[in-house]
Amino acid sequence: MDGKPLREECGVFGVFGAEKAAEKVLVGLSALQHRGQEGCGVATLEQSGRITVRKGLGLVSHVFPTEAYRDHPGHFAIGHVRYGTSGGGELDNVQPFVFHRDIHDFAVVHNGNIANTEELKIQLERMGTLFRSSSDSEILGHLAHHLSTGKEGLTAHSLKRALNLIDGAFSFLVLTPDRLFACRDKYGFRPLSIGRLGDGYAVGSETCALHAIGARVLRDIQPGEVVEIGPEGITSSFFAAEHRNTLCAMEYIYFARPDSDIEGVNVHTYRVESGKILFRESPVDADMVFGVPDSGISSAIGYSRASDLPLEMGLIKNFYVGRTFIQPNQALRMTGVRMKLTPVSSVVKGKRVVVIDDSIVRGTTSKQIVRMLRDAGAKEIHLRITSAPLRHPCFYGVDISTEAELISARMDVDEVCRYIGADSLAFLSEAGMLEAGRRTELCMACFNNRYPTALYSHSGEQ
Ligand code: SF4
Repeated sequence: MDGKPLREECGVFGVFGAEKAAEKVLVGLSALQHRGQEGCGVATLEQSGRITVRKGLGLVSHVFPTEAYRDHPGHFAIGHVRYGTSGGGELDNVQPFVFHRDIHDFAVVHNGNIANTEELKIQLERMGTLFRSSSDSEILGHLAHHLSTGKEGLTAHSLKRALNLIDGAFSFLVLTPDRLFACRDKYGFRPLSIGRLGDGYAVGSETCALHAIGARVLRDIQPGEVVEIGPEGITSSFFAAEHRNTLCAMEYIYFARPDSDIEGVNVHTYRVESGKILFRESPVDADMVFGVPDSGISSAIGYSRASDLPLEMGLIKNFYVGRTFIQPNQALRMTGVRMKLTPVSSVVKGKRVVVIDDSIVRGTTSKQIVRMLRDAGAKEIHLRITSAPLRHPCFYGVDISTEAELISARMDVDEVCRYIGADSLAFLSEAGMLEAGRRTELCMACFNNRYPTALYSHSGEQ
């Protein structure tokens, strides 16, 4: 990932009907930590029938000590890891959000970004709603509350009515005293999978988290689907008459963990295939190939297999350095890259190298990598990118907010190549991105400006 790493909003995990549910949710959230490090929280159903929440800023291991929830007897819990692209980074915006009603409590966690946030907030405020955070994720709870009838409280019916008013990207989990609802937007932007755990169930943003607690993966939640898990088992229905399958392409390319499967395709396998296709589309005569850790490594395996170039370890990642985006200016950011990645001089010296990375955002990291490899003695540096040029903002939960920060929005491929100082540069085609996942559709709006949803006033301002 070049430049400021792209950040995704967020990871969700829930357990229904299993012992020590909250402890299991913590394990699941730890497996989803790559999806958000800003804050995390867990909501549990207490014996009193109320739902309580504990949350904090930072990593799961920092917010929750190992003994947290060790003796908690509850069988029902949901949790969240956050990297907010909507709202600020303060504790108020950390999820779960718990809604206390006279009939019953319910708790909500959300991965994604609601595209018609401003419109819905204005309507809700006119109806007297007071928002307690600046996060868009709170909207579903208020809508469901307004749409639920007095005696029954939140039901699948009121939830589906609320979901129909929301446009954009969402994977929601909603916990009530006797139900867990798992809902995915009608475009399928963000992944969500369900698994079996003894007599209970677990639901999570990625299958890696289901595996982490020993759950058996059953399937993906479908776009537009609401899965209702109750004491009698699970039922499925759709809140939207029409649905598509425009999963965010960046889930395969960059965000998801390589051991996760999304919609029948393993993420590592997708990246290997993208590397093979990248060689077919943009071959180059060289001595070796290697990937920029982490996601570039799987794709470099594919490029190596297709090209017969030796797969090497030309760049080493220091896992114990903070991420480059925390550096406040360009010069310090460059230093951050050098601290995070190191070329292996004895491997690259005098060699023509192919370097595989997942994307180029600002161009700063690529420029720095090329410079470091030249300083280490590489003779030629050919950069190959496993996605198309990033040119447009994202309104679905990834923090590409303006075109101004995207180098490919201002420069063509040759200009970007000259800017970063590589001997050659090539990007994977959009057709190649689809082929790698054996798919006919993905959201690729940040590459091609074709947004699956309507664009709202909020979107236009970004
Ligand atoms: S616009 Fe880009 S980052 Fe956003 S959901 Fe679509 S593919 Fe993913």
